[in-house]
Amino acid sequence: MSKMRVYVMDNGININSLKMDLIACDNPNETFDFPSWTVLIMHSEGNVLFDCAAHQDPERQQLREIMENLKMKEEDKPVNRLAQIGIKPEGIDYIVLSHMHPDHYGFIDEFPRAEIIVSDDEFTYMVKDYALRRHPFIKDFEYFIGLELNWRLIPSHVKTEKLMDGVTIYNFGKGHSYGMLGLLLELDCGNKLLVSDAIYSSENIGPPVREPGICRNRKEWRETMEYILKLAKNLNAEIWYGHDNAQFKSLIKSTEGWYE
Ligand SMILES: [Zn+2]
Repeated sequence: MSKMRVYVMDNGININSLKMDLIACDNPNETFDFPSWTVLIMHSEGNVLFDCAAHQDPERQQLREIMENLKMKEEDKPVNRLAQIGIKPEGIDYIVLSHMHPDHYGFIDEFPRAEIIVSDDEFTYMVKDYALRRHPFIKDFEYFIGLELNWRLIPSHVKTEKLMDGVTIYNFGKGHSYGMLGLLLELDCGNKLLVSDAIYSSENIGPPVREPGICRNRKEWRETMEYILKLAKNLNAEIWYGHDNAQFKSLIKSTEGWYE
């Protein structure tokens, strides 16, 4: 038996979103749909969740896009997707958080045993922004900071960290956010590089390169993207993009099967 199984979990779809937020396009009013999703790695050394979807609690959530555009059914919530596979919340050992945006950290508080791994730069600057009231989602962030979660921060000089046999954290650095983490999965079916929003979609790559509207620093975004493309080539890995609807449709979902 293979040492791990990888499940792609569907956590809803963002409909009628502005395309230019994710991919540069000529028409500023053009809208499109894109998926919200997470990945479970069921491994003989422990269970890992990559990202944690978006919640829609009106008490916490302030982003109009997530409250209005995200269509998320009850079964789409991470705990319910995991229940379908037979994994309880206590069964999650690690959550690797690609970054600290609300469509990726929504449910991190529902996993009591999990160590939550995030970039030190991301954590530090997001907390700073929060303290200075620069966030567009103050309430949401306040909720998490108030909880006693088990954080582990990956310093910026640590570029890779082996989490388990065949599972390696990659510290991609700045661009989309202050610090992006990715995950390399070495599977029998081929290597996968999970990059989350460091690259939203294959459409961003081009040619020509199409920058996203939502981006902390364009120069750093481009450098990070080029680094990821080189890395994927060297590792002979398929990139799994953050919000690529066409690619997501082509992946085997957790209700259908798994990768190993
Ligand atoms: Zn996202």
